[in-house]
Amino acid sequence: MVFNLDGKVAVVTGGASGIGLHYAKELLRNGVQGVTLADVNPTNGDIAIKEIDNEFGINRAIFVKTDVRDRQQLENAFQKTVEKFRFFDILVNNAGILNDAIWEEQIDINVNGTIHGILLAIDDFFPKYKQSHEGVIVSIASTAAVDCYVHIPIYSATKAAIVALTRAWGTPEIYETKKTRFFSVAPGVTFTPLIFDMYGRNLGPVYEEYLRNHLDKGLWPSQEPDHVAKELMKLIKFAHNGSMWIVEGGDPAYEYIQA
Ligand code: NAD
Repeated sequence: MVFNLDGKVAVVTGGASGIGLHYAKELLRNGVQGVTLADVNPTNGDIAIKEIDNEFGINRAIFVKTDVRDRQQLENAFQKTVEKFRFFDILVNNAGILNDAIWEEQIDINVNGTIHGILLAIDDFFPKYKQSHEGVIVSIASTAAVDCYVHIPIYSATKAAIVALTRAWGTPEIYETKKTRFFSVAPGVTFTPLIFDMYGRNLGPVYEEYLRNHLDKGLWPSQEPDHVAKELMKLIKFAHNGSMWIVEGGDPAYEYIQA
């Protein structure tokens, strides 16, 4: 059954930049009535809201300053969402950093932030505020979750954790009680500040390793964030519970099935 986006309300963590911002706009373009950008960066948040106001008209999006490491801040973002838009149907766990030098912080944001979001949504908010039969939780992993890049082992592990959480929560038993569909998405290298801040414009050894892995398989993996957002848009309508999808430049998303 295709999930109908009309009138739904979404929260996108890390939605002030990159993939999250593109996805928030794509959701609005496809029938979602309101989006909350829950991000730690208020400067980018203000810019993002102005962009959305210009493109979609005012009152379609709010920014709530949120550090996903802090459950209360995330709860506040969800609360502001239902106060503004009355409903809450879709959570996009997108906030993330790529920096093994600050690995504890990285685990805290990428993994604990995702867990806070999932628990708050399925235990507290979706039961009260989702409009239709099911809520949806999309969590952004990375190809690092399956390729496990040698230069960024801890980042890779955080993304593998996101896939595992999605698979474990995305089971029929949980669906029975929580009425929430989970899926995760693994983008390949995507040209956003996350990549440029880490490697500069001249992408270094990690990227070379990545390219080698993919070009050997005949894939050209790099992409712009709007490509990921468009693939995500298709997936939200039909990706089945617990599934994981690879999104690489130029190619349509394809499901990753563990051998
Ligand atoms: P980005 O840096 O453009 O966006 C990340 C956003 O997360 C930023 O707006 C940042 O302010 C926010 N953020 C960081 N820490 C936060 C916190 N503690 N609480 C709330 N928000 C926080 O990067 P992006 O590439 O758009 O990354 C989005 C997601 O996609 C991340 O989870 C990333 O790991 C994943 N991803 C990116 C790539 C890539 O190549 N860019 C590839 C695979 C997966």
